[in-house]
Amino acid sequence: MKLSTRFNVWIYRKLKPYWTVLEVSVKNLEREYLQALEYKKAEIARKKFRDGMTPELYKQLTSRPSQESCSHIKGVSRVYGTRRFPVKDYAIMWHTHPDAHVEVKCMICGKQFDPKDPETIKMLQSSTNTATASEYPVRR
Ligand SMILES: [Zn+2]
Repeated sequence: MKLSTRFNVWIYRKLKPYWTVLEVSVKNLEREYLQALEYKKAEIARKKFRDGMTPELYKQLTSRPSQESCSHIKGVSRVYGTRRFPVKDYAIMWHTHPDAHVEVKCMICGKQFDPKDPETIKMLQSSTNTATASEYPVRR
């Protein structure tokens, strides 16, 4: 074994424990940095959202849309009226109550529909929602 090789092995053995500690410290610092970066990104996004907020927009976002302007379709922007999905998926719920009466309504605006109306049945068939029912047994 040459002297330089022996020296390399010696210095490797001497430095190995420090290297392991250093590696862990670097990983911790890296994680800390990424967390701070994500926090900063969220802070900027929050500030941008709050700066763009007006009382009218706040009211629009926190209240139900009017039943006349509602399209009863999932994924439609309340602000811009644009559709997010290419397929029309109605936000219509069909619920059977314990007294066997059926309630059909829009989950966005709350408009009630007649379950016997063919237009309502057409909307229900194109919706991904499934019918719900109360587990309470129907009394006869
Ligand atoms: Zn609606």
